[in-house]
Amino acid sequence: MKSLYGKFALTTIFIMVLSGVLSFVISNLYYQHSLKPQNDDKITNFALEISKYIQKDPNINLNNYLNHIGLIGYQIYIVNDDGVEQFFGNAYRDTTLSKKAMDTVIAGEIYHGINQFPHKTFVTGFFANELKNTVGVPFTYQQRKFALFIRPDIKLMFNEMHLLFAWLLLTSILLSILFVLIGSKFLVNPVVKLNQATKILSEGNFTIHLDINRKDEIGDLAGSFMNMSRKLEKVDKLRKEFISNVSHDIQSPLTNIKGYLNLLDDEGISKEKRQNYIKVIHSEINRLSNLSKQLLLLSSIESKKELIDVKEFDVAEQIKSVIQQFSWRINERELMLSYSLPETKMTGDPFLLYSVWENLLTNAIKYNVENGSIDIIVTSLNDYIEVQFKDSGIGLESSQIERIYDRFYRADPSRSKAVEGTGLGLSIVQSIVQLHRGKIVVESVKDIGTNFTVILPK
Ligand code: ADP
Repeated sequence: MKSLYGKFALTTIFIMVLSGVLSFVISNLYYQHSLKPQNDDKITNFALEISKYIQKDPNINLNNYLNHIGLIGYQIYIVNDDGVEQFFGNAYRDTTLSKKAMDTVIAGEIYHGINQFPHKTFVTGFFANELKNTVGVPFTYQQRKFALFIRPDIKLMFNEMHLLFAWLLLTSILLSILFVLIGSKFLVNPVVKLNQATKILSEGNFTIHLDINRKDEIGDLAGSFMNMSRKLEKVDKLRKEFISNVSHDIQSPLTNIKGYLNLLDDEGISKEKRQNYIKVIHSEINRLSNLSKQLLLLSSIESKKELIDVKEFDVAEQIKSVIQQFSWRINERELMLSYSLPETKMTGDPFLLYSVWENLLTNAIKYNVENGSIDIIVTSLNDYIEVQFKDSGIGLESSQIERIYDRFYRADPSRSKAVEGTGLGLSIVQSIVQLHRGKIVVESVKDIGTNFTVILPK
């Protein structure tokens, strides 16, 4: 049986049969150890009462009396010291009884055939309609010694109960099997649906709707599955966007380079034009090199779950060297730079944090205006350091602010096209800050300026 449904139904039915067998064994043990002696005692008392009653009244009509008891629901056998036998009530199926048993009872002993009945189960013991399976008591009647063997007439007493119990057992077995089959289907169905959904998902189709509204573990599993499929869909979309962006960003500088190289091929162009074309080719190569560096950095950050190359260093000192590296660009754009950089030690990955400051400073330069200003402030707080990059540049609209950390996002492309960029810088910055368990906050007003604040644990 390969299906979960079949296994589930079979296992439950097997458990039902096993528990039936076990409960039969347990109730049998209970019958053998407790009920059988009790039953024997009860019938012995009853037989002794009969014997006493007969002996009390010597003129009693023995046949009538015992016939009457037989009609009430007992099977009786009597035998006297001459070996004369008589039966009352319904017949025994098996009338063998040892001579020794008869003789000992006639001699005055009590015969406990019910208690000594050798059968192993209560079904074969309690219901066995045999003369051996009786209680025997002695009595004297008209100076003759008798042995009286008696047992309740189970058939007479329990016939309807028998049927009732048989019906009860049969219907409960059949109904349980039916309900197990229906119940298993109900339990297994969602798993089948989940399996189908997994197959659809593995084929790259994310338009899955799972019709499972349950509040149990399977419902939770279905919920998690839907979450996972939505995340996979998002990741797949991002992956496709990423590939198309990267291809585009590689393709366009290559086309430019190819175009300008063709132009350079013409020997008749002026020296001035030639230098201009070479300048463009250089800048396109820079763009490509920048893009590949950023992609490498991004993939190295994303493969990291934790920081590895961590050490203590002075953030202010590091920012000073970034300023130095880009001071020619600040001067070139005639920007006013002010800063407050007191010594501020922290523990982190200096290589990664260098590119945070590099990106924030180059953005403050690139997206600034003529005669604009840049202000850099490092502040040391109790457990944190705060680094601010303020600029009086072009600023951002609130709809743009929401997206600036998205990969390849460039706000207002018509304006920012003028300046080189890949749209990867801030997404790298955010990943590095998050890797340091810090956060980055941006405040910006269109045409007024932008303020990035990086908060990092020391
Ligand atoms: P890019 O390589 O284009 O600079 P970033 O990820 O660094 O990519 O920035 C994403 C976009 O956010 C930029 O294209 C720009 O439109 C906007 N942006 C970033 N920094 C600033 C800033 N200081 N002032 C105004 N706009 C900014």
